[in-house]
Amino acid sequence: MLSSDFANLSTELQRIEAAGADWIHLDVMDGHYVPNLTFGPPVIKAMRPHTELFFDAHLMIAPVDPYLEVFAEAGCDGITIHAEAGPHLDRSLQCIRDLGCQVGVSLNPGTSLDAIRWVLDRIDLVLLMSVNPGFGGQSFIPSALDKVAELRAMIDERPIRIEVDGGVGPDNATKLVAAGADVLVAGSAVFRGGPDHYAANIAALR
Ligand code: ZN
Repeated sequence: MLSSDFANLSTELQRIEAAGADWIHLDVMDGHYVPNLTFGPPVIKAMRPHTELFFDAHLMIAPVDPYLEVFAEAGCDGITIHAEAGPHLDRSLQCIRDLGCQVGVSLNPGTSLDAIRWVLDRIDLVLLMSVNPGFGGQSFIPSALDKVAELRAMIDERPIRIEVDGGVGPDNATKLVAAGADVLVAGSAVFRGGPDHYAANIAALR
């Protein structure tokens, strides 16, 4: 939703659902952990009645623990936090599980997969950043492809999804899926051209 028209969120949600979106990805930024501000729980709560789609919250905030409950209450179905954003990752992930949400952990482009090696049994999803978090519309960092493949091997038989976020579009979607990605986050690639293009943009990604 980072690339949507924030003045018309309810309409934008209905449009992208009709255009074939599977999930709604919500980029929450705090101007502290990342150098940008977006929106928080009240806006997510206001969006919630306008679609039945899965709300995939990506929290780029620190500290994150004090806010997990309010994001769950706002209607997030999955909550993804950054491994780099807090001192007690295992505890934070357990908090998300206790709130009844799908548990996700995200890694920045410069963070090693070792950061999540010992929490794989706690999580449902790993979000690999393929740009540095903070702004939409950035270019894809190519090394993310190798990272997806390495993570796929590390996950082995565990039921964990690999999500890729940043600079994803029709030009790299095929390679990402071939490397092992399950979930592709796209902002610019979905919303570009305006509402008349949403369905074609999503079809191009598929
Ligand atoms: Zn995101």
